[in-house]
Amino acid sequence: MARFDGKVAIVTGAASGIGKEIALRFAAEGAIAVIADLNLAAAQATVEEIKAAHGGDAFAVAMNVTDEAAVEQGVADVVAKYGKVDILVSNAGIQIVHPFVDFPYADWKKLLSIHLDGAFLTTRACLKHMYAANYGRVIYTGSVHSKEASKLKAPYVAAKHGLIGLAKVLAKEGAEHNVTANVVCPGFVLTPLVEKQIPEQAQALGISEEDVVKTVMLKETVDGQFTTTDDVADAVLFFAAATTNAFTGQSLVVSHGWFMQ
Ligand code: NAD
Repeated sequence: MARFDGKVAIVTGAASGIGKEIALRFAAEGAIAVIADLNLAAAQATVEEIKAAHGGDAFAVAMNVTDEAAVEQGVADVVAKYGKVDILVSNAGIQIVHPFVDFPYADWKKLLSIHLDGAFLTTRACLKHMYAANYGRVIYTGSVHSKEASKLKAPYVAAKHGLIGLAKVLAKEGAEHNVTANVVCPGFVLTPLVEKQIPEQAQALGISEEDVVKTVMLKETVDGQFTTTDDVADAVLFFAAATTNAFTGQSLVVSHGWFMQ
């Protein structure tokens, strides 16, 4: 029997990068993976990939995590189809880099909305079903930037720190309903989100792209290696599989040694 047999796992932002790997890994271990993403075509392609790889069940949901009605509808559709939601991985996110001094307010609000409103809305929509079932595992994709700062990332660092607070509240409120909350905090992972940042940071900092990777992104790692999507999925699935409240409210840095606690 696989670790997540019969479990329904919603992963937001699962049409790409880290979320996609998490969804693939849940499906490989028996779960029904719900691919909730802004990009429905890419979400459907991920579903096809899962079905081809594992013959498992997967389902694509078009969802803008900042749209209250869309989130409520998407979760309702999942519950109508599968009867429950056991696991939520709130992972959808973007990056916008800019010096603080003239960071556009619209970009600040957009980034906070996707990361924080998205985490709040998706969690709230799932919680009523989790409470009714007396079971739930909620995992937020944080970042080393949930613990540490970097230049040019004012809203991202603020939002990722915020997720830690959100998870702590959920850990307290969810406990009596057997709902746990955790944050997984990756270092740099080579996904489209980071590939886009390398030339942007090179320009903003006036250094080469190679130096962005070596002296900014991977400088503090123990081995000069990017964190992989598999590294992150290992940690997410660990928390999702927990059979105890012992880990609830905690965050785990997955970063090849960058920011040791
Ligand atoms: P990615 O760009 O590869 O994937 C992000 C996905 O989120 C995309 O499929 C996109 O369509 C979706 N998305 C964006 N806005 C959305 C919205 N409003 N509603 C629903 N879906 C939306 O990025 P990634 O690197 O896989 O990042 C995933 C998460 O991991 C983010 O929260 C990011 O902050 C975090 N993270 C990434 C890294 C890294 O180095 N890549 C490091 C630490 C944390």
